[in-house]
Amino acid sequence: MITYSEALAILTASARDRRLPVEWVPLDQTLGRVVGQEVRGAEAIPGFDNSAMDGFAVSSEATQMASAEHPVRLRVLGTIMAGDRITERPGTRRENCFEIMTGAPMPEGGRAGALNAVVKIEDVVVHRASDGRPESIELKRALKPFENVRERGEDFAEGQTIFRPGTQLAPEHLMAAASLGLAKLPVIRRPRLAFLSTGDELVPYTTRELEPGQIRNSTAPYLVAAGPRFGAECRTYGVVGDSPEDFLKRLHAMTDDGADVIVTTGAVSMGKCDFIKEALEHAGALIRYHKVAIRPGKPGLFAELPSPGRPVVFGVPGNPISTVVGLRFFISPYLRMLAGQPAELPLRARLAAPAPKPEGLRCFFKARLECGPEASKVTALHGQPSFMVSSLLEANAWVVFPEAGREAVEGTEVDVYPIFPTEDR
Ligand code: AMP
Ligand code: MG
Repeated sequence: MITYSEALAILTASARDRRLPVEWVPLDQTLGRVVGQEVRGAEAIPGFDNSAMDGFAVSSEATQMASAEHPVRLRVLGTIMAGDRITERPGTRRENCFEIMTGAPMPEGGRAGALNAVVKIEDVVVHRASDGRPESIELKRALKPFENVRERGEDFAEGQTIFRPGTQLAPEHLMAAASLGLAKLPVIRRPRLAFLSTGDELVPYTTRELEPGQIRNSTAPYLVAAGPRFGAECRTYGVVGDSPEDFLKRLHAMTDDGADVIVTTGAVSMGKCDFIKEALEHAGALIRYHKVAIRPGKPGLFAELPSPGRPVVFGVPGNPISTVVGLRFFISPYLRMLAGQPAELPLRARLAAPAPKPEGLRCFFKARLECGPEASKVTALHGQPSFMVSSLLEANAWVVFPEAGREAVEGTEVDVYPIFPTEDR
């Protein structure tokens, strides 16, 4: 039996030569996708010097002597609105100014021109013509060069790196890309995940009346619902009974359809019907590990299938929580590796109550995390057995206990993971 860290090292080595390719996807379809290569902006944003305020574009130099006792008076030559073109403004000189609206281009392109600052409308006395048009203004204080001016390239410089590989795209990334006109983005192809349930006792969850010994397949809908939260494209291949022949047929269908990662539930323990390992070997798979010193989910298995496609197989035990832990702590890290994302970092919290644990096994326990004004506290919930789904409903996090010890001690700092990973920044 290997440790969890050893299992992760095996997964890392496997993922290294199975990195997913990059594809260019329209911006509005990239939410949640992982950036595959560095993205640079071709343009400066803002693209032109423009006003940050509704007010008047003035020459900062002309305002230097302005004070409450000696206001400076400037003649208003006209009005510039957002959307107006940057044009030459005849007669623009230090002692003149323009009425200007937020987002409107500075006269003569700002930096190059004579007028290089904006005074807010609230900060001046405006003298108006009979038709309401401003004719002149009086200023009572000096302005610094570029005061209230958004300078060209102040937000994004031309050629600047916008996204690094591994960034997971959130709405704000789409905003940045849109402002730069990046209509398509290079993202990692979604991993294709294929699910297969095993077990003679399984019947569809739509079954009303169970025969003695039957149970409803509860993990299949879970996997299909949860898979996309890990960025995967998911497809389910139904249920096979405890028959290696049926299993192998279904395995071939999954590989033929181009699955990257195959997830089987059940039949990886030491029971009479636990045929997955042997059947995979029969199909030419290399078993990279079988059994990891964890709870729940100890009998888990990882295998690599030969070409074509070289998919990998995670055999997770059939108990619902073993399946959930397999997805969260083995398959999810592996998918991140395939996408070139960094390993997920745990949160840290103080254990609020002592929790018994098996010696020598790393434990992934259903937990309740409380983030308050003081340090975060976490409690391992009652009802940790791997068949118990009810306690998962109470959980809002996972707490991880290291291998050593028979008890996780109250007050110690422990690793905590959210039920699903949060987006990478
Ligand atoms: P196994 O890993 O095949 O030995 O199964 C372990 C336990 O999980 C048994 O009690 C199974 O009946 C149960 N089980 C297996 N597959 C599922 C499933 N898809 N949904 C719910 N329970 C399952
Ligand atoms: Mg079984």
